[in-house]
Amino acid sequence: MNKLVLIAGAAFALTACNAPKEQKVETENPFFTEYTTPFGVPPFDQIKIEHYLPAFEKGMQEQAQEIEAIVNQKSVPDFENTIVPLDQSGKLLRKVSAVFYGQNSANTSDEMQELSKQLSPMLSKHEDDISLNPKLFERVKQVYENRDKMGLNKEQTKLLEETYKDFVRGGANLDAEKQAKLRELNSEIAMLQLTFGQNMLKETNDFQLIVDKKEDLSGLPESLIANAAETAKAAGQEGKWIFTLHNPSVMPFLQYADNRALREQIFKGYINRGNNNNDADNKEVVRKLVAKRLEKAKLMGYKDYASFVLEDRMAKNSENVYKLLDEVWTPALNKAKEELADIQAEIKKEGQSFEAEGWDWRYYFEKAKKAKFDLDENQIRPYLPLNQVREGAFYVANKLYGITFTELKDIPLPHPDALAFECKDKDGTHLGVLYMDFFPRASKRGGAWCGTYRSQTYVDGKRQGPVVTIVCNFTQPAAGQPALLSADEASTLFHEFGHGLHNLFKDVHYYGVSGVPRDFVELPSQVMEHWVFEPEVLKVYAKHYQTGEVIPADLIEKLDKSGKYGQGFATTEYLAASLLDMDFHVLTDVPADLDVMKFEEETLGKRGLLKQIPSRYRTTYFNHTMGGGYTAGYYSYIWAEVLDADAYEAYKETGDIFNQEVAGKFRNYILTPGGIDDAMDMYKNFRGKEPGTDPLLKNRGLK
Ligand SMILES: [Zn+2]
Repeated sequence: MNKLVLIAGAAFALTACNAPKEQKVETENPFFTEYTTPFGVPPFDQIKIEHYLPAFEKGMQEQAQEIEAIVNQKSVPDFENTIVPLDQSGKLLRKVSAVFYGQNSANTSDEMQELSKQLSPMLSKHEDDISLNPKLFERVKQVYENRDKMGLNKEQTKLLEETYKDFVRGGANLDAEKQAKLRELNSEIAMLQLTFGQNMLKETNDFQLIVDKKEDLSGLPESLIANAAETAKAAGQEGKWIFTLHNPSVMPFLQYADNRALREQIFKGYINRGNNNNDADNKEVVRKLVAKRLEKAKLMGYKDYASFVLEDRMAKNSENVYKLLDEVWTPALNKAKEELADIQAEIKKEGQSFEAEGWDWRYYFEKAKKAKFDLDENQIRPYLPLNQVREGAFYVANKLYGITFTELKDIPLPHPDALAFECKDKDGTHLGVLYMDFFPRASKRGGAWCGTYRSQTYVDGKRQGPVVTIVCNFTQPAAGQPALLSADEASTLFHEFGHGLHNLFKDVHYYGVSGVPRDFVELPSQVMEHWVFEPEVLKVYAKHYQTGEVIPADLIEKLDKSGKYGQGFATTEYLAASLLDMDFHVLTDVPADLDVMKFEEETLGKRGLLKQIPSRYRTTYFNHTMGGGYTAGYYSYIWAEVLDADAYEAYKETGDIFNQEVAGKFRNYILTPGGIDDAMDMYKNFRGKEPGTDPLLKNRGLK
């Protein structure tokens, strides 16, 4: 444990088991009683920071007792007395974890971050106590070995297989000495991942580009200037403008700011997060993390960490992942080179002769796009007010599946800025609750995601709907104006909404089969992006926020034509990140002096990455892979894109993007069954065949 304290550079891990003061609130702890709120959503307004730790502790204690009860039975192990109670165990822990981790991402505080560091080793130990319990594994194994004689249905069989596999992958077959080592590694890895994310948040929040001369704002859209003025005001710097490394600030700044030196400054701030040799530096965190992961993989009998991870994915092994990434890499890079030539031409048009740098790309690309298609991003925004885009997403879901969304007013919210909706099936049955929380704030991590404050389950034989949340970081509205989205942000809303639908439609009986493989999970979200700019859909929701005028046909046409322009850059920066993630995790040796930034440079350099295109996430702020979640898994987006591009073809082939038969199959075979089937089988059930890469390459204009 001491090592962890050193890595984290903080002392609070030492106080881990020191919690007497919390005990007095036990009786009023909202986690200890059934929620009495509408639809049983968490009573966010009553949950205080001091409620979490006692609930986690009691939750772990209860689950440990439940496990003891399973293990100490005299009866012969079977599905009902072993697998089911194991699946259902840990109710309180699940309840408090969902709220804590949801809030820690969307609405964190110093106290929550400290607590998450305190919890990390406790939870890691608790999980290991279960997965390395020899008596429990013995029972599970007995049931597994007799699985053919038990008359189990498909869902039960899958639960049993997954449970057994989880034990094996959790180290149940290792000897005692190796198990002890595994525990140590799990705990260290968890803490390093946590530290990585916290450093990244700090580095993102700490940077400010302060502008005090009006002429330095030249080129910037009014809304961005207004937001920067408000940020400055809130920081006690009224009269100035502050730009930050949050996407809605840094990205349009790079796209529009005429001042090249300032573009360079913010760009360098962005790409050097976690690489500033300060107390939030992530280089050594990454090196240790990659080394510990490799050590774990070897302990488990794998040659590298990627092999350990991918065995459990649709991709199965790293060869398959590289095959796809390499197939797309060359056409993407060639396209990016064409885009660079256009950019260089724009620089020349200005009478300049310098070679484009990273901080020039977005700026001159925007000009090249305007020259080619006569389209400016800012022409689109007025037609994409946030509320209407949201209604557009609801409209598409209604046309496809007949479901409806009604805003809920008197219901606890995860944050005062969030909105709540009830989702009902076409026959009026309750499907679940959906929260939407759109704007950036310092307490929210970057990016966009979808999570659950309670996953779908069955209670007394009745389906209990999930409580789902969508969290984004969209452009904040300027005072007195509605939020106007960029085309990218509108796509993101549809994307996260797609994850939301996957959760809302889910209908499984066991937690153990609720999830799907990481490289399948982006299919439901990415497929939704196909509808966002369909002319038929735009006509419904894309109306000018002032005049109500429907987006003009010629603007739709321009949007359509220009949509593929820029895919060279977008695909290349994404693939670079995917390759970087893979390359770190196919290492079979991590030297103590590994320079992770040099590794990044070499591994991408040897593939010919253009110097103007940094990896979408560089090593020291690549939270997807270093924070956990998408480790040896960032490729999943393009893997799933093979699926979603092919899936959308199924609609296109019928000539009706709302074809009811296709939508019905998509819902039944992809969205409803959770993980009760093998992912490729689910896809083939829907489509009647395996997908090919052609639709993806065509969609991206790479073929
Ligand atoms: Zn996603």
